Amino acid sequence: MSEVPHVIVCGAGLTGLTTAWQIRRSGIDVTVLEASDVVGGVMRTTHRDGYLVEQGPNSCMLTAELAALIEALELTPRLLRAAPQAQRRYIVRGGRALAVPASPFEMIRSPLFSVAAKLRVLAEPFIGRRTDVADESVAAFVRRRLGREPLTWAVDPFVSGVYAGDPEQLSVRHAFPRLAALEREHGSLVRGMIAAARHNRASPPNAASSGGRHTMISFADGMATLPLALVDDIGQANILRRSRVVAIARDDDGMVVTVERDGVRRTIRADAVVSTLPLHAFTQITLDDAADAARASLDAIAYPPVVSLALGFRRADVAHPLDGFGCLVPSAENRRTLGVLFSSTLFEQRAPEGHVLLTCFLGGARQADIAMLDVDALVDVVQPELAALLGVTGAPKFVERTLWPQAIPQYNVGHDAAARAADAIEAIVPGLVVDGQFRRGVSVGDCVASGSMIAARTLALAQANADARVTQGERRPVHTPVSPAAVA
Ligand SMILES: Cc1cc2nc3c(=O)[nH]c(=O)nc-3n(C[C@H](O)[C@H](O)[C@H](O)COP(=O)(O)OP(=O)(O)OC[C@H]3O[C@@H](n4cnc5c(N)ncnc54)[C@H](O)[C@@H]3O)c2cc1C
Repeated sequence: MSEVPHVIVCGAGLTGLTTAWQIRRSGIDVTVLEASDVVGGVMRTTHRDGYLVEQGPNSCMLTAELAALIEALELTPRLLRAAPQAQRRYIVRGGRALAVPASPFEMIRSPLFSVAAKLRVLAEPFIGRRTDVADESVAAFVRRRLGREPLTWAVDPFVSGVYAGDPEQLSVRHAFPRLAALEREHGSLVRGMIAAARHNRASPPNAASSGGRHTMISFADGMATLPLALVDDIGQANILRRSRVVAIARDDDGMVVTVERDGVRRTIRADAVVSTLPLHAFTQITLDDAADAARASLDAIAYPPVVSLALGFRRADVAHPLDGFGCLVPSAENRRTLGVLFSSTLFEQRAPEGHVLLTCFLGGARQADIAMLDVDALVDVVQPELAALLGVTGAPKFVERTLWPQAIPQYNVGHDAAARAADAIEAIVPGLVVDGQFRRGVSVGDCVASGSMIAARTLALAQANADARVTQGERRPVHTPVSPAAVA
């Protein structure tokens, strides 16, 4: 091996690609191993019959890190900001889609919450800080601070929208760290939010948020634009598609990764290996026996299935104005649909003239079985719900179903165990970094931000291993390297 470190990144989802891109920018050789023949992981866009369908994320928040990445990749001309109407969100209560109050004044008038619930929220600043340090569920946290109604009619559907999860299971500290921090730092959510609003007003908006602090974005050709641009910049030759990682080991010369491609196994050497794989994939990889015990708690992290059902209707067949981001359905409503995005309102060019595109999500932690239904059964389930909630009549003119059998990691109570297990594995296999979406947040913005952090960690390790290899090499005979190109 050369003295210049070589890094292998496992997984060409957004986290892996951002990590690889950062590593490459530091002038370090990088090879990305991807099991599928498509890059981008869950970030995929299809174009059919005049519709643009997002199979995974439909939009994301323009964070500072994402804005910097977009600029570096020269994607700014292709950037789309969500339509102003997307500021409005709907939540279903009593079978009606009600606008979520956007200001304290709207909150007072909103039928989404009862008068008693509104008074209870006003009492929040007077509720003492929790002193117990044990992990707490999102549901317990919200009941304690805000009462039952905000949990049922606001937090429950919001949790479905982000994690397709169960607020009784999710940990507030891990799933919504900023919420937990508001209580910790300000003693109250209301006081914390007022302080944050004051701070935001006082500080100038950064380049990322020139269109507002919570700008939702996509690209003219959809979300897949971002991973595809990352691949171009990293270099197509450095991405090995259809290359499933099956084993990672360490020997005296560094790291050895075994990859399977078209049924043939090969090894590739590196100074450091980073896994950005979902845990259900990482736990299938053969590691040092000593790492197996630590891996058991990674196996326990649930990734419930989610199905995304894109439906195109004639505009005339939808009574609702679709003047918003979409509509979330609380579990108390006892419906199957978790939420509906008004995709063709969010961004232009998502549906042919005279038609609209709605994206429905089903499944998740509480209704996993529904996600597994075939496309006809799903349409049968969703259609009456859309009729009731949005006044949809007539059959869809376009249908596309995407099933993610293991969609999003659940940051449930006790999630600290996952990071501890990853740390333990890294200690047992020095040269391996186990990181990504399961420990640094699940949003697109989180994945981009974590790419920088993971790259920094990996680079330090790769350099240390390369230095050690050079020192040892002076004492050992030189071996023949296996070129990554041999696997391509
Ligand atoms: C349906 C859905 C909707 C979402 N909507 C939004 C949204 O609107 N906004 C938002 O901000 N976020 C959203 N997210 C979350 C966000 O898109 C993801 O968290 C993020 O894209 C995950 O990227 P990743 O690289 O960490 O993982 P993944 O995208 O899962 O990538 C992992 C990659 O590893 C590969 N792989 C697996 N096993 C192996 C192996 N053994 N060897 C080599 N490669 C392997 C896989 O093929 C895959 O390409 C959504 C997620 C889903 C599933």
